Amino acid sequence: MLYDNEKTGGSQVIMSTLCNKDKGRQMLLLSGCRQCRICLQQCPLHKGKGAGVTMKMALPQGCIHCGLCLGRCPQKAIDYQDDIELFLQDLAKGRQISLLVAPAVRRHFKDYRQVFGFLQSLGVRKFYNVVLRADITLWAYAQILSSNYGKPFISSPCAAVTDYIMNHMPALRSHLMPVYSPLVCSAVFLKKYRQLDDDLAFLSPCIAKRGELRRSGSKIQYSVTIGKLKQYIVERGIDLSRYEAVDFADSKEGQGITLGANGSGCTSLNQQLPDRRFKKVSGSGVYSYLAEYEAALMAGDSLPDLLEIYNCEAGCDSGTGTGKMLPGVLPQTSAVGNVDLRQEVAAAFASFNRTLTIADYIWPEIKCYDTHGKDRRRI
Ligand code: SF4
Ligand code: SF4
Repeated sequence: MLYDNEKTGGSQVIMSTLCNKDKGRQMLLLSGCRQCRICLQQCPLHKGKGAGVTMKMALPQGCIHCGLCLGRCPQKAIDYQDDIELFLQDLAKGRQISLLVAPAVRRHFKDYRQVFGFLQSLGVRKFYNVVLRADITLWAYAQILSSNYGKPFISSPCAAVTDYIMNHMPALRSHLMPVYSPLVCSAVFLKKYRQLDDDLAFLSPCIAKRGELRRSGSKIQYSVTIGKLKQYIVERGIDLSRYEAVDFADSKEGQGITLGANGSGCTSLNQQLPDRRFKKVSGSGVYSYLAEYEAALMAGDSLPDLLEIYNCEAGCDSGTGTGKMLPGVLPQTSAVGNVDLRQEVAAAFASFNRTLTIADYIWPEIKCYDTHGKDRRRI
């Protein structure tokens, strides 16, 4: 076995959630658990429930892989599994794999280009910046908002929140924006519009993305978290400074002019659709916020045209799968915030209208719940 990420400090896994039948376990409960239930105080599904619910019982009951329990356990009895082991094995077998990379990578390594150099030495072919294709995701959002006046939508790139709505809040399913996340939009764009033939892996800040990859048609085969990659590098004593700096294959295309520039989809969309209302919420309170949202929806109250919503308070750069900062690495600031690029974004969206087919970026699993506006030019 190249790398066993199912054991922590010699502990054995005593319970896990299933990602799917083929890819095995995801959240892991280890043998050090003392059933104190501290972890469940944060769980969106089980907090406030009686002492009869233990973590062993809770994990198989619809866990959304939000990771809110992960850092809470005093016994360090909670861990998670990603695809790093399979990814390394397949690279060693010579499989052609390129990497889609979350912008969080810049925050978590002294020089991400040396990490790419190391991964290239293992066989990774090219590195692509996911935040660039957030421009496509937001273009699709703008199209759908423009042709569905009056319907409140909820953003869908946060895998934990989307999982929560899909599996635990059926009344909100048809309000999820039926557009792939920037990650899956990247895969679609590179495969269809750039004719990339390689298998794809995602270098991810998020535990829950592994489930999204399976739900969106396995366009990306591996979810490798930044946290598990750091752990691998530290445990193997890999000296990253020995590796040549390798940059993104698409580095000349910049950082994107929507999410990459503003750090918020709402800001860019509001510049394009000033007559619509947008709201952004993040952090562990979003799950109780969704209950209020549902009540307002049922009561016919006014809601924002788009609710942009994230599980992690500080956004994906500090996502649940990023792990501890490495020694000597200072976190870099990420998104700029409130940059006014409205003309550039308008020009990019106009260009996408001519060159992209929106149906390629529609997420069928969400779209199938849509019962709204069949006579309103719904995409
Ligand atoms: S906090 Fe840790 S020890 Fe306590 S119930 Fe949760 S997993 Fe078990
Ligand atoms: S990952 Fe989230 S949903 Fe799953 S057990 Fe932990 S807190 Fe609960």
